Amino acid sequence: MLRWLWVGRATSFGEMTDLPRALRERLEEAFDTGLPEVVERTTAEDGAAKFLLRLPDGVQVEAVHIPMGKRQTVCVSSQAGCALDCAFCVTGRMGAGRNLTAGEIAGQYLALAREAPFGPHESNVVFMGMGEPLLNVRNVMDALDLLEREVASRRITVSTAGIVPGIEQLARRRRLPNLAVSLSAADDETRTRLMPVNRTWPIAELFRALRAWPLEAGRRITFEYVLVDGANDSDDAAARLARLVRAVPSKVNLIPLNESPEWLPDLRRPPADRVDRFAGVLASAGVPVTVRRSKGLGAVAACGQLKGRETPRPPWKARAFPVPGR
Ligand code: SAH
Repeated sequence: MLRWLWVGRATSFGEMTDLPRALRERLEEAFDTGLPEVVERTTAEDGAAKFLLRLPDGVQVEAVHIPMGKRQTVCVSSQAGCALDCAFCVTGRMGAGRNLTAGEIAGQYLALAREAPFGPHESNVVFMGMGEPLLNVRNVMDALDLLEREVASRRITVSTAGIVPGIEQLARRRRLPNLAVSLSAADDETRTRLMPVNRTWPIAELFRALRAWPLEAGRRITFEYVLVDGANDSDDAAARLARLVRAVPSKVNLIPLNESPEWLPDLRRPPADRVDRFAGVLASAGVPVTVRRSKGLGAVAACGQLKGRETPRPPWKARAFPVPGR
């Protein structure tokens, strides 16, 4: 059956014609393949496409296809919402959503492969869609087992807001994906303001887990840093960041805030010269740094913009902060 799903790209048990008909019928009745249904496709001018996907129980999540020359990056969701409530992220506005199963996570990749379309062995996969992968670490690890049938683990990146027990659990896996950590501040006060999860696992604890991450020689941990005007974009903040990330082999990926007047009315993207200066401070401290330019993606499918339905339930309020694991 796995061969039918992955090599044959089957979307139903009915297509698995070398199984006895009676068995196929029983399978159709009792199970589904977990492949999500495409509800809507929105394509940005730079070619990136956001897919709104419906899961068997009606829950909707988003996945993004980002063409990059001959290859592409597929961005998948791991939860149908997010409990972490980062100040700059639209997904957090909708609150916690259920964990996706391994099949639903890998199924997003298969659904996009069919729709985009693209063939096997041509993609990178990033767990940077909706949700916090390491609050669903069991299913994410099972999804890695499935995806690794055709995407090498060095082409898969799991991004976390810093769930320490999840990092430790993932670290014990035999094959390791790349690790990306959403840092967005180098001091606890600022980080807690932007990312409440920092209250549970402050920077020192996070870095203890990162220093223990079994990084292969020559590889680096990626630190994502969302630049928010006036909040975390000063030269001082850059200098502090440079000192902090030196603790592990790493690179910094700056993401100028994708604005959302509707959902994030108080937050602005810093002006371009501020972004350049911030990157310059890091570079002159010897830290490898790139700036993620979201271009036409900004309006529809960029980082922090995924919400899985057109209108998350307003009005949202400040929520308690339910992080399991402690
Ligand atoms: N929960 C995981 C996976 C989501 S990845 C994590 O936090 O890493 C989504 C990335 O987009 C994160 O790095 C996050 O910091 C970033 N992001 C969230 N909101 C954003 C926004 N409005 N503009 C730019 N980047 C944003």
